[in-house]
Amino acid sequence: MTSGAVAAARNILTRLHEVMASRSHAQSKLNTVAEVIGECLDSEVCSVYLLREGMLELFATRGLAQEAVHVTRMAVGEGLVGLIAEQIETLNLAEAAAHPDFSYRPETGEDRFHSFAGVPIVRRERAVGVLCVQHVEPRRYEEVEIEALQTVAMVLSELIVNAGLIDGEDAGTFGVGQTGPEQLRGLTLVKGLASGVAVFHQPRVTIEHIVAEDTEAERQRVILAFDKMREQIDRMAGQAEFGVGGEHEEVLETYRMFAYDEGWTRRINEAIDSGLTAEAAIERVQQRTRMRMRQIDDPLLADRMHDLEDLANRLLRIVSGQLGTAASMGLRNDAILIARNLGPAELLEYDRRRLKGVILEEGSLTSHVVIVARAMGVPVLGRVRGLRGVVREGDHLLLDADQATAMVRPSPGVVEAFEARFAKSRERQAAYAALRDVKPVSRDGQRVRVKINAGLRDDLANLSLTGADGIGLFRTEFQFLVSATLPQRERQTRLYRDVMDAAGDKPVVFRTVDIGGDKTLPYLRHDDGEGEENPAMGWRALRVALERDGLLKAQARALLEAGAGRTLHVMFPMVAEPWEFDAAKAVFDGQLAYLKQQKKLLPEVIRYGVMLEVPALAEQLDLLAPKISFLSIGTNDLTQFLFAADRSNPKLAERYDWLSPAILRFIRRVVRSLDGFNVDISVCGEMGGRPLEALALLGLGIRHMSITPASVGPVKELVGKVDLGEIGAAMEGWLTSPPPDLRVTMTEWAAARGIHTD
Ligand code: PEP
Ligand code: MG
Repeated sequence: MTSGAVAAARNILTRLHEVMASRSHAQSKLNTVAEVIGECLDSEVCSVYLLREGMLELFATRGLAQEAVHVTRMAVGEGLVGLIAEQIETLNLAEAAAHPDFSYRPETGEDRFHSFAGVPIVRRERAVGVLCVQHVEPRRYEEVEIEALQTVAMVLSELIVNAGLIDGEDAGTFGVGQTGPEQLRGLTLVKGLASGVAVFHQPRVTIEHIVAEDTEAERQRVILAFDKMREQIDRMAGQAEFGVGGEHEEVLETYRMFAYDEGWTRRINEAIDSGLTAEAAIERVQQRTRMRMRQIDDPLLADRMHDLEDLANRLLRIVSGQLGTAASMGLRNDAILIARNLGPAELLEYDRRRLKGVILEEGSLTSHVVIVARAMGVPVLGRVRGLRGVVREGDHLLLDADQATAMVRPSPGVVEAFEARFAKSRERQAAYAALRDVKPVSRDGQRVRVKINAGLRDDLANLSLTGADGIGLFRTEFQFLVSATLPQRERQTRLYRDVMDAAGDKPVVFRTVDIGGDKTLPYLRHDDGEGEENPAMGWRALRVALERDGLLKAQARALLEAGAGRTLHVMFPMVAEPWEFDAAKAVFDGQLAYLKQQKKLLPEVIRYGVMLEVPALAEQLDLLAPKISFLSIGTNDLTQFLFAADRSNPKLAERYDWLSPAILRFIRRVVRSLDGFNVDISVCGEMGGRPLEALALLGLGIRHMSITPASVGPVKELVGKVDLGEIGAAMEGWLTSPPPDLRVTMTEWAAARGIHTD
């Protein structure tokens, strides 16, 4: 902003402030506004058009015929005013009539005026009206005047929203701009269909006050906010160097560049000098950048723009103190959550009844947030590029994670077609529900056990809904993730007891806490307080539990007490060496001895098992097998360690296939090493929940799987159609001389036998 623009805007703002503070009626305020702006900018015409019932209506004017007020109406996209609103851009024309979109309205008496400048009045990134000035003399307006108009338009947006002069915000019809339907493509992370309104996990800040009372104070607020934001970005970037943190290094580098950009700080300070509050100044500069970027058609720049948007929003959140996520404000409608990425604990904060779907810019199949979403039955579409540039808060979204797409602002025809698909999918679900009481028995008569993975109290309903054979993996750390503080032993006991009560005579395998990796707890940090370079391979799971043995002792006691008089199944995660199992079991033995001494009722039987997630354990199974009752292969971690591919890195999400001979041969080897031992073997990673992968596991001799509840129906159906002898022989052949693409070969094999695997 030039100093002339700053002074002009400041002058108008001071006068507008008085108008807005006055007690007059909204319409008369608007009339005064048109007068004041016209006067200050020395403009012959100043008009305000506002969006009402989807049309841009002339609400106030100085210079045009007063009879035209509330009479002249334009559709969005019609005429110069409509164009400004549709494109959310400024027009500056020496000869308005020469523009191809010019539309003459005789009732306004505007034929005398030649020059025209108009700016959109924007609210939450959408045009809700247009402010324009006109002159008899044909001339282009100076930058100073345009900038003053843009600042004034911002103040106007506050006035008109407060006065309720425009279409309602909640009706979803609020504003124009980006109104057309758009299709998003991504990667299916959790299948399913959903319809709802877009809710940003980190919502855009609502700006309460636009005109500043004390400019110096606003300047100080911005300085402090910049300091804080830079600190945050530096910290994130510091972590990213070590591969920690969800955000990409590249993005963070850009963030840093913007965060330290002097031009940005200067423009915000100038906007404050013109009389705006810190929030309004940030938004004002952002609007201007947005408008400029819109004129540059470069996808790379558009990406950078999203980063800058993100950062501006972060700065706004800091300066306004509106730090909560959408979860803390509560979901008001059926919602589809939009985020770059999320942690599992963040997702769990949302109201499960209202949360219908999630769309992420990043995300990968086995990241914990996706596992949690799968457990919640919430479809997730990931890896959607440019997501936050296309979707706006409140947009209607149709998420079709089955087809890896989402429709933004769908047309009625698309909604209808979607509803039909939705109904079909519900029918399919109902068909699976009909399998509830059917035991999974293969075509050649072998019983396969299909259990569910769970971790929350709410998951228990899935046991009876699916008719699963039990809970093969109860992730006890979920209780820790949803708590603000470490859950006390009594709370743990209560949960475990309730879970066993709900399961009745079906077994529940409790996995001791697997904290660490991407499941971080703010209240449980490594002693030195430093972030780890490689948390998935770091201080997590049993490693934490054995070092903080108070944690494991409390959990052991809670499990033993909850299991009093019943059969208790305890499973240790991330066992890499047999001694780790021994050490963990010793903690349980110690607690058992104590309870015995206290003459407490003990579990009737305790079965101990391990998860095989670390490949090293496969080398020592003969040593471990005599000590354990069961072993469950955790394919999520196993895959990341076998391929040295971070399970939550979106760049690697599609790189390695579960149907690769490396994984399948590895699992076959584990199955064979346990031959002759009395160890029950199962698979509890996400792999088993996908029909084609489940087919492969059956081919490897796995007869026991614990999977996500939504997959129980499809996997039961699959088991009923498969001849286990036949798939076993086929798998042997494929693993001896692997076909070029086993996924393709297996899909054809299944299709030829009428087995659905999609
Ligand atoms: C696994 O690693 O496969 C597993 C089931 O455990 P989690 O996904 O909780 O790490
Ligand atoms: Mg694991």
